[in-house]
Amino acid sequence: MKLDEDIKFIDFHTHRGEGDGVTLVIKNLLAREKVPESLSPGTFYSAGIHPWYLTKENCDELKSTLKPVLEHHRVIAVGEAGFDSRRGPSTEVQYDAFIYQAQLAGQLDKPVVIHTVRLWDVLRKAKKEINPSVKWIIHGFRGNAKLASELVSEGFMISLGLNGMLPEVIEAAGIDNILLETDDSGGSIRDVYGSFAQVSGIDKNEVIAILKNNFIKVFAKKDF
Ligand SMILES: [Zn+2]
Repeated sequence: MKLDEDIKFIDFHTHRGEGDGVTLVIKNLLAREKVPESLSPGTFYSAGIHPWYLTKENCDELKSTLKPVLEHHRVIAVGEAGFDSRRGPSTEVQYDAFIYQAQLAGQLDKPVVIHTVRLWDVLRKAKKEINPSVKWIIHGFRGNAKLASELVSEGFMISLGLNGMLPEVIEAAGIDNILLETDDSGGSIRDVYGSFAQVSGIDKNEVIAILKNNFIKVFAKKDF
């Protein structure tokens, strides 16, 4: 994979940010949203059916509007997609929409950005069913060290924002299985990197190199 040498910071999940010469951003599109006509360098997209906006009635329509968006070359990941016990339709409908997206992700060779609130067992069931060839990354991870280490051993990666950044979680997941994001803080990705360096005790430049490498592993077949 080719990634510009000047890129230092990668914001794995945001709804607001834009990329630039040194920052690569994955901006999330909700179902029915289209990739903008004018594309700024460093801004890439993920697109998916978020469980909050899914209903039993709109499920088929959201699936068919999503598909062409996912085929766009700037849409590099599927999601956020997943499960939420507090908001959204029945688990059955959420599961159906998720499996559809996970299958498309495999066909298009694009990783999956996962939103999940509780319902870890449902997510695990989906992973067993799909046995994915692409990476599944749990964004906004806020669980404890035990859960982080279990998920990583099952093949997931986690993406952390300021609120999930605990030294024991970083240690349990292992630095090679982590990405960073601004979704929960809305602040600058540089600050998230700074906080990560502080919490992990790893030198800032080393953090930049390791996280860039993690990103390259996830998107091994993609040129940017
Ligand atoms: Zn989000």
